[in-house]
Amino acid sequence: MSQLKSVLYVEDNFENRVLVRRLLQYQGLNVMEAETAQQAIHLLSEKRPDLILLDINLPEMDGYSLTQIIKAMPVMEGVPIVALTANVMRGDRERTLSAGCDGYIEKPIDVDHFIDQIDAFLTKDQGNPQ
Ligand code: MN
Repeated sequence: MSQLKSVLYVEDNFENRVLVRRLLQYQGLNVMEAETAQQAIHLLSEKRPDLILLDINLPEMDGYSLTQIIKAMPVMEGVPIVALTANVMRGDRERTLSAGCDGYIEKPIDVDHFIDQIDAFLTKDQGNPQ
């Protein structure tokens, strides 16, 4: 994976944050974290990550609403948003896409495939280097 890209991970669950942070940092990615939608919005007013990973089930404002807000921010154009959805909830994945997410990754995270999944979205964001 190429140099120092950054990922914003929005997740209220501490253990998930630790796991994902570890996996991403091990790949040399810069990890930013937010525990709530409000924190994420605040952070995004100052930083533009290369990818946003989003827990859907967040306190106060959920990931669907947060996605719509981020997609309405002109500076975030081209930044992929990938939802982390629990596979037990059928219909969730379709909902993430109709909310504007660019993709989804099933929870629980498959540690062996997670980085490949992330890398696919990061590469997509880059476009063709010319
Ligand atoms: Mn959650």
